[in-house]
Amino acid sequence: MDEAEVHTQKICPKCGKPMVLRTVKSGSNAGHEFWGCSSFPKCRCILD
Ligand SMILES: [Zn+2]
Repeated sequence: MDEAEVHTQKICPKCGKPMVLRTVKSGSNAGHEFWGCSSFPKCRCILD
């Protein structure tokens, strides 16, 4: 195995763009991490 860097890169199932890890900044879910599409708000696909 040559994988020095492990990227848990996720791909948007809707548009195929990479997902980015975001953190909820406010609200009842503040601090919760989720994967959001990098095309947001064009694509609003979200993964937990
Ligand atoms: Zn997307």
